[in-house]
Amino acid sequence: MISSPSLSAAQHLDTDWLDSLLSKLSQFGALDNGGVDRQALSATELDARAWLIDEARSLGCEIYTDSAANLFFRRPGRQDLPPVTTGSHIDTQPGGGNFDGCYGVLAGLACLKALNDAGITTERPVEVAIWTNEEGSRFAPGAMGSSVFTEPDTLAAFLNVTGEDGVTFAQALELHHQRFPGLAQRPNRDMAGFVELHIEQGPLLEHLELPLAVVSGIQGVRWYQVQCQGESAHAGTTPMALRQDAMQLARNVASAIEASTLNPGDDALRLTFGRWQVTPNAVNTIPSRASFTLDFRHPDPAVLAQFDARIAGLAGDRVSVAPLLSCEPVVFAPQINQVLNATAQALDIPCTGLLSGAFHDAMHLAGHCPTSMLFVPSHRGISHNPAEYTEPRALHTGARALAGALTELSDTI
Ligand SMILES: [Zn+2]
Repeated sequence: MISSPSLSAAQHLDTDWLDSLLSKLSQFGALDNGGVDRQALSATELDARAWLIDEARSLGCEIYTDSAANLFFRRPGRQDLPPVTTGSHIDTQPGGGNFDGCYGVLAGLACLKALNDAGITTERPVEVAIWTNEEGSRFAPGAMGSSVFTEPDTLAAFLNVTGEDGVTFAQALELHHQRFPGLAQRPNRDMAGFVELHIEQGPLLEHLELPLAVVSGIQGVRWYQVQCQGESAHAGTTPMALRQDAMQLARNVASAIEASTLNPGDDALRLTFGRWQVTPNAVNTIPSRASFTLDFRHPDPAVLAQFDARIAGLAGDRVSVAPLLSCEPVVFAPQINQVLNATAQALDIPCTGLLSGAFHDAMHLAGHCPTSMLFVPSHRGISHNPAEYTEPRALHTGARALAGALTELSDTI
């Protein structure tokens, strides 16, 4: 069960207003094909921020920023306690869609309006965050803003990162400051809880015909490069038994990895051999070198560790292995998920549990405060693409669930 103010907040969610916010934000950086190009801290994104700051002010919010130009729109609570925060990002891929990130921010604003319209004063403040540079397409890596918020020491390493336009992250932050000189710094980094509402960016919810998922965590990732050595020789004159064929070795190694790793009973496992390079890559020459990459993902640290050990064990005379990326899985907070599930149930929203296949700002927040995510369906799982689409009805359902859950959390955690 959830409280009657939480139900009332959900019922007061103004879906027309949410639709109008989505359509207005999509005009900042609109492309002819219906998509959007709104790079982090670009002039276009700053225009969008200016508009959103005005919207938040008209809702009566306090506005804060921080050293990474994250924005925080805070609706005061009965007490000056650490807030319950939601939000996401408004930067996009160069050919992005209109929902990735944007939906979470705008649904958050719609929740604040619902609280106003329902005349509710929450115990804790409720806050909407806009995290800077989640996509990482202008400044790499992604999720810089949430990274700096949760670990301020990471900022120093980001300041000199330079975009293709020659502008450094430090210069972009300065331009943000010049555009919004009056914004107060967020008084501290306290946060009682964080819930990010996002499109799934995968096909599962649509396949299950469900409008909502409570996300259990983000899977861990390993990337490796495997290189196999051989000796080039003439394809016509060298007998099969006397060859040192690097490609044949690579194929055998890949098959062995597949055979020892794949587990048909394990739905959560992902294994991809995405990039192959063969030298000299000629029709009539036995390959002297063949290398391939491995992308392995799983939510269980024990399975990831087992995979690491297996790959390390492959190294030998003719095979070398280099790790490229290692990210541990993230488990979202059970106490938040309990509230998310209870809210969905109270609102009669059919709902399932899902694991996130993609990274999100919530990944960094999970190390900072109790954190979780809600997903709504993505049509055909398409994202990072102008064709990204979620039915308005599902967008409204997700926003209602968020309004109920934020209200409930602000009074109970
Ligand atoms: Zn996103």
